[in-house]
Parts: sequence; structure tokens; C-alpha cells
Amino acid sequence: MAELQEATIVGTPALDGRYITEMDMWPLECQEFNRLYQFYDNLREGRFTTTKCKKCGHIAFPPGVICPKCWSDELEWVDLPQRAKVVTFTETQAGAPIGFPPPLILAWLNFGKDSPLKHLLVRIINCAEGELKDGDEVKLVVFEVPAHPIEIKRETKVCDRVYYAFERVK
Ligand SMILES: [Zn+2]
Repeated sequence: MAELQEATIVGTPALDGRYITEMDMWPLECQEFNRLYQFYDNLREGRFTTTKCKKCGHIAFPPGVICPKCWSDELEWVDLPQRAKVVTFTETQAGAPIGFPPPLILAWLNFGKDSPLKHLLVRIINCAEGELKDGDEVKLVVFEVPAHPIEIKRETKVCDRVYYAFERVK
């Protein structure tokens, strides 16, 4: 069972080492609460995936439980490319929201013409201020986020959680 992690809260000393459940920004990922739990299970295995419609072939991102083109619920999981190029980005150097150490970088990525996912707006991590440039190659990175205790049928279950971002290919 997972240990409850302490959040690193930057810039608000009174909140150091505390995890604020009311401000939890990460999804509940376990099967009991999330029909897209497979996406997170795949992330844990290092796979970046989404859903493809078995009827019309449409590939949607983010993944869903029905096809947005034909409304079919017969979907399958397919892998997406894990590398992309930065088209443009914003870098917040001060005043980032609680839980996001600065710089908070959001980038618009281009996955190339052969990818079913052409573009994505995503967070870039492990990158110093001023380091990222337009045109840089970035790759998927999966990281742990604070586990979340949830009551399921009168038992408390602590669900491990992960999320994804991208980082510069050095
Ligand atoms: Zn479809």
C-alpha cells in the first residue's frame, strides 16, 4: 500500500510539507472511480496511450469512453508517440499556482504528420528558467503525484497516482 506523500509547496511557508486535499488537482485514478483508469495504468508502464474507435477508426485525445465522431463505445487503447517538437511555450517565473514550482512551463507541441495526435498543450518539467527554446525536442516523462486515500465500501484505500508531462531531450 502506498505511503501518503508530502507535497512540496513553494512560496507559501505556512503550507510547507502539507497536502491540501481540498485543492487536489490530480484525478482519482483507480478503477472504482475512473472509467479511464487504463490510461494511468498504461502510464505506470511508461506507455502514452489513448482510445481508438473500433467502428470508425477515430483516435481521440484525451481518451474517452465513447467515440466523439460516431458515438460508439467500442474502443481500444493505442500507443501515441512519446517525442514531439516545441512549437511555442509560456514560462511563468513567479506567481505560479500552489503545487507548481516555478518556472511553470506550458508548451504547444507538434507530434508530426504521421502521428494520430498532432498537437498537445502540456506542462514541461525538469527544465530551468530560460532553458527551453522553440523547436526543442521533448519526450514523455511520468511522475508520481500524492496518493489519495478514498473510502470504498467502508474501507479506506490509498490509490497510487501518476501523471505525465514532457521534458527536454538533452
Ligand atoms: Zn467512431
